[in-house]
Amino acid sequence: MITNVNTPRLTPLYWQGDALLPLERMEPFDETASGTLTILHTNDLHSSVDARTQFGGLARIASTIETERAVEPTLVVDGGDSVFGGGTWWCAVDAGATSRLLAAAGYDLAAIGNHDLERGPRSLRELITAGRRLVSTNLQFADEDLQQAIAPAYIVELEGLRIGMLGLTTTMTVRLVPRSVLAGVTFLDARASVLRAASALSPLVHSIVILSHLGFKTEDFSDTDLIPSIKSSKVAAILGGHSHEALSPAPVIDGIVVCNAGAHGVNVNRLTLTRSALGSISVQARLLPQDETVPESAKFLAVRGDELARLQPLRDERVVLPTLPGADRQLQLLVAAVRASGKATVGAIAMIGRLYMLNPLPDADSVSHLEVMTAYPNAEQLMEISIDGGRLKELIRNLSGVNFFLGAAPVLLATGDDVVAEDLEESRTYNVVMSELSAEGGLGWTALQDLDVKARPLAVTCADLVWSYLSSPVPA
Ligand SMILES: [Zn+2]
Repeated sequence: MITNVNTPRLTPLYWQGDALLPLERMEPFDETASGTLTILHTNDLHSSVDARTQFGGLARIASTIETERAVEPTLVVDGGDSVFGGGTWWCAVDAGATSRLLAAAGYDLAAIGNHDLERGPRSLRELITAGRRLVSTNLQFADEDLQQAIAPAYIVELEGLRIGMLGLTTTMTVRLVPRSVLAGVTFLDARASVLRAASALSPLVHSIVILSHLGFKTEDFSDTDLIPSIKSSKVAAILGGHSHEALSPAPVIDGIVVCNAGAHGVNVNRLTLTRSALGSISVQARLLPQDETVPESAKFLAVRGDELARLQPLRDERVVLPTLPGADRQLQLLVAAVRASGKATVGAIAMIGRLYMLNPLPDADSVSHLEVMTAYPNAEQLMEISIDGGRLKELIRNLSGVNFFLGAAPVLLATGDDVVAEDLEESRTYNVVMSELSAEGGLGWTALQDLDVKARPLAVTCADLVWSYLSSPVPA
């Protein structure tokens, strides 16, 4: 476990029946204690180790943390989605580099976002490397090491003041991550989990803070849906994530302060939670923009340099980019790679979601291995499904109504030519190459949800396909 300098003491709690208990004995709870806890909060960093705009960058966030800790003990938390999801090349290989850098920056505790689960238990293990702590109240893990490492609640203690910390993950995750990847992770009802945990924590703490990756207001169960059920609990603040909006000022809903610092580290949310001698709880929140006036932490930059050196071999490995016909060279390259691999049926259609090409290929004559891994994520494998023309037509029509990044342009694998839905024969069976998540009806691909489609795993990821295609002696 990392113990940061001048940070409050953190104690994990685990369920024993309906009680949340620490593994080691704690000092008795002094109900009369008063004081102030300072918390720094970010969310949805998506591996933004370096600033994406004039705002952000972990080196500035690290110095903001150092400055605060030089004055008083400070808890540093994250609301989830620290990696992946339109991430940077820092997470091209895995979540490990980002995780070690977050540890170096001085984070104490984080919620689990949907993207943190992009590779299921594997990415969670990467996220707890370097001794990072995750808290999750509404996820259950089949594996014992994760059960132990990711507690359902924490107590943060500062000179007798005790604050309970809970963590929530959006159920949207089950539509965003293939079932096979999420094996071993069970979602519990968020509202029921919080109510159970808040009532178990109540006799142990003065106040409760939720690290929430539900989103402020989303189509799924979100913070605003949760608040009516917890308004008379000890929950004083929700430190949010997922919906990316910087809430300034943080709204107070039913007495609960709801925060979101904005995505990619553009702000650090500074929160103070005070318990007065008379027992009242007050919360103040303010966003600290991470602009060029914030210095960069030299200590952090040194660790960043070490991580950069680890990734250097993948940056040095470069190959020439072939000239590709058509406007969408990123898709064309992927299609050419699938074709050359010989893994798909000749005559198949490729329908690989935009989501699988989120980061653009560099506009250059050559490309590094790391850039390919970033442009074509390698979290899930491709599948080939068999589907009749009538249903394929319906699928293509449905996808024209979803967000562009959830959709996919159907192209003929053999030629890279567009497939026009109207030209499909209703009764013919077509083979279609797509992502595993699409094949099981995730994202907006609901037309495939209840179909008994036959799916054949191609056992390879987009990134691996494209890289082996580019680095083969004579690309076909
Ligand atoms: Zn999210």
